[in-house]
Amino acid sequence: KQYTKKDILRLVEEEDVEFIRLQFTDMFGNFKNVAVTTSQLEKVLNNKYMFDGSAIEGFVRIEESDMYLHPDLNTFEIFPWRPQHGKVARFICDVYRTDGTPFEGDPRYILKRVLQEAKDLGYTFHVGPECEFFLFDIGEDGLPTTKTREKGCYFDVGPMDAGENARREMVLTLEEMGFEVEASHHEVAPAQHEIDFHYEDGLITADNIMTLRMAVRTIARRHGMHATFMPKPKSGVDGSGMHINMSLEKDGMNCFYDPNDKLGLSEVAYQFIAGLMHHAESMTAITNPLVNSYKRLVPGYEAPVYIAWSLVNRSPLIRIPDGREERTRVELRSPDSATNPYLALAVCLAAGLDGIKKKMSPPKGVDKNIFSMSDQERLAMEIRNLPGSLGEALDELEKSEFMREVLGNHAFLTYIRAKRAEWSQYRTQVSEWEIDQYLNRI
Ligand code: GLN
Ligand code: MG
Ligand code: MG
Ligand code: MG
Repeated sequence: KQYTKKDILRLVEEEDVEFIRLQFTDMFGNFKNVAVTTSQLEKVLNNKYMFDGSAIEGFVRIEESDMYLHPDLNTFEIFPWRPQHGKVARFICDVYRTDGTPFEGDPRYILKRVLQEAKDLGYTFHVGPECEFFLFDIGEDGLPTTKTREKGCYFDVGPMDAGENARREMVLTLEEMGFEVEASHHEVAPAQHEIDFHYEDGLITADNIMTLRMAVRTIARRHGMHATFMPKPKSGVDGSGMHINMSLEKDGMNCFYDPNDKLGLSEVAYQFIAGLMHHAESMTAITNPLVNSYKRLVPGYEAPVYIAWSLVNRSPLIRIPDGREERTRVELRSPDSATNPYLALAVCLAAGLDGIKKKMSPPKGVDKNIFSMSDQERLAMEIRNLPGSLGEALDELEKSEFMREVLGNHAFLTYIRAKRAEWSQYRTQVSEWEIDQYLNRI
């Protein structure tokens, strides 16, 4: 889709659009928006809509708070769940400073910068995510719970799958908003679901992930359920991940494919994998941003713990799914849906490109179940661990000059400062588990 201002004016008229939401994403992956009426459309289309950036977490200091929103015309969509007379449409916007320069703390700009770097090398970045989430009951007080009566598991059908109607409406809604949904299904844990959409260019996919989260939450409410993308809402069952499937295209060809290689992978694919593995520790604080994220990255629940890659095995960080030629792709399995998708795709692409530029080669693929290896076996194969907590992940991020450059100094420092505060707040809590374990005995 390539919309001009004229197209937008016509669409707004024809479709009876009354409100326009100007959306953007803060540093921590929260979608934000402000609504204007169509009387303001001219101003919006001329990039003249101003807002107070100091109100948004991770944006700017009070003294320099005025910012402008520049709508990306190609992101124009009508919300199918809002009234159909006097419709509500949205733009996803870029954030600009008053002097007309892009704001360096805008995650969308950070991703665009890395995408440009790929383009300069001749590559287009294709990404397809797998979004997992839970549909839980809403309590009598109207608040979300972690309760469900559902007992469905992987690929179950109704009535075992109590989310089928909600999921159906989610998929139809996303399709109305221009998505090509490839699959949706019940996931491993009770009340857990997954929706996968077709890969797109990096920026479109990041926008789509934000739109999907919003749509899924909204539609779930209509079905009397609460949708949560929290990485590990319940101990003892699978958490929710957001696997990222990536490939690079050059001159219309998937450049991860090489029919002459015994695994069907190109030199570039191996280098991309090597880059991801090289930067794996330092990017984890971005791909897994919450205290809770690290409760998912434990053995036993199909989530990665070790830094390794494999063709077949689902335990490692990186898997090469079946499907070659134009479907050849690298799947990174650590990210979860708490991640800011713009930052996540930025660090993944940057890491992969670094592998290509420096001609890195990956260690040998591991086709054994890493979880059943002994510590010595892993040591012998030089298999490292992913960071075990948000604190460790932040230490790794902070050490990385590479990540500082990818994110830019402003975003790097803001992110680390805020996440350190989150971590230290958590560390000073005394949990239920500790009371249970110690109060009586010690
Ligand atoms: N839910 C698992 C995770 O935490 C993934 C399960 C799957 O899709 N195979 O990543
Ligand atoms: Mg999947
Ligand atoms: Mg899945
Ligand atoms: Mg997957």
